[in-house]
Amino acid sequence: MPDPLAPGATIGIMGGGQLGRMLAVAAARLGYRAHVFTPEAGSPASLVSAETTVASYDDRDALARFAERVDVVTFEFENVGLDAFEVVEARVPIRPARGVLAIAQDRIAEKTFLNGIDVPTARWAPIRGREEVAAALEAVGLPAVVKTARFGYDGKGQAVVRAEGEIAPALAHLAPPARPFPTLIAEAFVPFAREVSVLVARDPTGNVATFDVVENRHRGGILDLSIAPARIDAATAEAARRCALAVAEALALEGLICIEFFVTGPGEVLANEIAPRPHNSGHWTIEACAVSQFEQQVRAICGLPLGDPARHADALMKNLIGAEIAALPALLATAGLIPHHYGKTETRPGRKMGHVTRLYPLHGLPDEAGIAAAFAPALA
Ligand code: AMP
Repeated sequence: MPDPLAPGATIGIMGGGQLGRMLAVAAARLGYRAHVFTPEAGSPASLVSAETTVASYDDRDALARFAERVDVVTFEFENVGLDAFEVVEARVPIRPARGVLAIAQDRIAEKTFLNGIDVPTARWAPIRGREEVAAALEAVGLPAVVKTARFGYDGKGQAVVRAEGEIAPALAHLAPPARPFPTLIAEAFVPFAREVSVLVARDPTGNVATFDVVENRHRGGILDLSIAPARIDAATAEAARRCALAVAEALALEGLICIEFFVTGPGEVLANEIAPRPHNSGHWTIEACAVSQFEQQVRAICGLPLGDPARHADALMKNLIGAEIAALPALLATAGLIPHHYGKTETRPGRKMGHVTRLYPLHGLPDEAGIAAAFAPALA
């Protein structure tokens, strides 16, 4: 593939969700076409893209035809079986590379990788069969969080075990006896002060750029609110940034990834998860930075110069989950609020339907009461 990719080239996007939608819009702004590959007809991304292939992620013929028609392939959704992707890799660059996804898809591979490059995580132990449960929980100690090693998202596929009596119900939920035992991971429960994340982009020649560290609040396992910048001291922010850069270097990353951390004390962060794609916690960059996370990903995978990730405003980003999308007219009618609708026609509880951003002057984030009131009364 010639670097940089010229305008008019086609970016193949695996996955058709809102991340792919916003990626396709950013690609269009720079003159590229998007071709979405998704099993779902009428997906949020395909509604704004030049082309869509609707096929299963393991349909080798469809993947091969798709690869013939695009100039680079990237992901907005990583929970796909990667075996079939050799037919893509043989025809066109995949950025980030398949190996990066393989690490991010498997919590055991991920934590092994992170610890191997001295990025700290919670204590953890693999659980590869029922007989390993007791020893793993003994090794990490209680309370613990037990998670499926693969295919978890938005807090799905995990259970907190606070006492011995909670082990059996957790296993009944995560590893029902009727099915083959899924590989699990036990992690020490981290009594974190805050959760933060860092987006880092790296281009094929090794240039890197990080966005400011953002603070994330979850509700029911789903991201609810992001606060940019994170309200942490400079040493903690630097620790998170250094870890993110170490990860990008060690992966020889081509593209953009997000790394989520627990803040456990001043200057202390534990990495929790790597997402090999733009991330929900980075939506604030669309309005608060000259170059958004989506444009940065386009730049990184197309071999364009990375953009300046500097923040020109502070920001709050609130997800619109399930029925919260009904507030759209009120959000639109409120000066200063910037709503996004993902084009999903069916509202379901827990489904990310859109988000809304509010900007503040640099260093002008409100206090807790102000944050709680930031989207009211439009969003009661
Ligand atoms: P994950 O799927 O690993 O991103 O976990 C979803 C959310 O569960 C995290 O954002 C945390 O709020 C919580 N969580 C996950 N792992 C732990 C842990 N080891 N200790 C405390 N909370 C956790």
